[in-house]
Amino acid sequence: MHLTDHVTDMQLNEYLDNETTLAGRSEIELHLSTCEECAARLTALKSLFAEIESLPDLELTPNIAARFIPTRSLPAPQVSNWLTLTTTLQAALALIAMILATPIISRSLTPVLQAYPIPSLNAVLIDLQMNFVMWIQSIQSFQFPTIPTGIFTLQQEFSTGILFASLIGLFIIWIIGNWWLLRKRPNSLA
Ligand SMILES: [Zn+2]
Repeated sequence: MHLTDHVTDMQLNEYLDNETTLAGRSEIELHLSTCEECAARLTALKSLFAEIESLPDLELTPNIAARFIPTRSLPAPQVSNWLTLTTTLQAALALIAMILATPIISRSLTPVLQAYPIPSLNAVLIDLQMNFVMWIQSIQSFQFPTIPTGIFTLQQEFSTGILFASLIGLFIIWIIGNWWLLRKRPNSLA
């Protein structure tokens, strides 16, 4: 420890517990004699220790300690209950959002359905890839007047399919994530 460094709380704790080496003690004392800040922290720690020691010994008997054992297991169900509640609320909100979005999606999807006789998942994925490639290309060939029109045409041709696919994808990922989380949780706490 360098003289200019402040004494850490841990070092002060060890110092008060007489766990510091003799050389460490003299270094700490030297710093304390020159640093008001650390000296004040030592005083505060000392008074805290004194307060703890002044507490009745009864408080620390095994009976009291035994009372803490059940409370240690309490947070586990609380956490998982809270998690279940949050995920259930999330699921409900997502479901509502999906239901609300369905008419909009299906309405905007109609031209896509007409354009592609079989809107299979493959077709949507290919659209997604094509759009991504075109998007990358439009970024690479960045020019101020062309980029807005490029984005506009891309949106007209592909965005509805992409919106639908990414919504489904996100929903599936979200469901799997939550399922995994809720499935893992009790095991790790047990
Ligand atoms: Zn200091």
